[in-house]
Amino acid sequence: MSNYYELLGISRNATQDEIKRAYKKAALKHHPDRNPNNKESAEAKFKQVGKAYQVLSDTQKRQTYDQFGEEGISQMGGGGGFDANFDPFDLLRQFGGAGGVGGVGANIFGNMFNQQQSEKQQKVKADPVQKVVNVELKNLYNGQRSSFIFQKKIKCKKCDGLGVKDKRLIRHCTLCNGTGKIAHIKRMGPMTTQTIKTCYQCNGRGTYSDYNDKCRECKGEKIVANPTKIDYYIKPGMSNGDKIIMRGQGNWEGDCLESGDLYIVLNELKSKSSFIREGENLLYTMKINLVDALTGFTFYIKHMDDRFLKIVSGDIIIPQQSMKIMGEGMRKKSDSLDYGDLIIKFLIVFPEKISDERKKYLKKILPSPKKQIWDIEPSDDDVVDEIVLDYLNNEDVRNNSSYHSSTSRTTSNDNISNSNNTGNNNDINNAQLNEDDELFNQPVNCQTQ
Ligand SMILES: [Zn+2]
Ligand SMILES: [Zn+2]
Repeated sequence: MSNYYELLGISRNATQDEIKRAYKKAALKHHPDRNPNNKESAEAKFKQVGKAYQVLSDTQKRQTYDQFGEEGISQMGGGGGFDANFDPFDLLRQFGGAGGVGGVGANIFGNMFNQQQSEKQQKVKADPVQKVVNVELKNLYNGQRSSFIFQKKIKCKKCDGLGVKDKRLIRHCTLCNGTGKIAHIKRMGPMTTQTIKTCYQCNGRGTYSDYNDKCRECKGEKIVANPTKIDYYIKPGMSNGDKIIMRGQGNWEGDCLESGDLYIVLNELKSKSSFIREGENLLYTMKINLVDALTGFTFYIKHMDDRFLKIVSGDIIIPQQSMKIMGEGMRKKSDSLDYGDLIIKFLIVFPEKISDERKKYLKKILPSPKKQIWDIEPSDDDVVDEIVLDYLNNEDVRNNSSYHSSTSRTTSNDNISNSNNTGNNNDINNAQLNEDDELFNQPVNCQTQ
């Protein structure tokens, strides 16, 4: 086998940059996929080129090689200077893919050095980080562009992520032989137990450096915090708990090739608006007066995109009745144009008191069932007792019940008609809404009209 320098076509004084460039060029040239006619000999050469890079890119190994040749490398350290798990295809992939597409910055080569030094399996990408953002239903309906400042951990520029003043000051950990792990063997009588622990000398990194050699900027941590503005977009129809994934916008971790992802997790705040989301539908609770429930009325709903929906009802609305408006709910999926429905639940406000005078009129006006011959009225002799009806629970129930208007807002005379009331109709209809209301929590009876 020809010597490593000849293999890569470089001089003995080649710099690390030259070695990297020469390696990539040679590896692509000899890649078996690019040599379909002589795959086998190309692959052998491809492996040799990788081996040459493995040695020459490591200052310590290069020195040994220069003095003692390949044999010197084999005798280096515990398991020798050659990594038994070395995969030349993986190496090239780290340089920008087996196809040789570029785009791998010089900083990545810096980490390659660390990776070569330690026989420990290095992470390619740092772990993702999560950031929870609060969002109102209105913004989930309309979509929203927003941003926040993220204390992003980036590679220390001063030491290029090495954590030391110079890469020659990185020491290979001989205690764990660069694996970052050490085995503890305990003997108890005939039993032996082995536990694997993180190496205390290198903290599992496989390499370490002396305190005085550490980079002053990052204090040897390899990373520094860099406040970064993150712009993100909430698509209409997204839901509580949805994740927006920002690829590569997360933190960098020492020795990783790439920064991790940033996950933006949506946290829907308790609705301040009159709308409540139920899956792809929206629920809107509306109080109406008894007279409107009986005679019909026109009302307006201000939607979350500020449109006013004009709704004309000519039919009688019965207690607990719900109606729906097709297609006025939430967007079904954030990438579709289908919408759920808007369900309007009516709560009928009954008058608290009606004067005897008015009662007479009402009896005359409102239809009452005609007496049938089988409607029996007992004679006075049959009546045992005269009973006064009492409330089932206590006065509170009666006062809270939506069947009664609150005295401050409505009397039998004071008619809160919704007709042509565009400006503050939300206020009127919802000022008294309270989710603890007994009636509020009753099952929605979805009827279509
Ligand atoms: Zn160690
Ligand atoms: Zn540093």
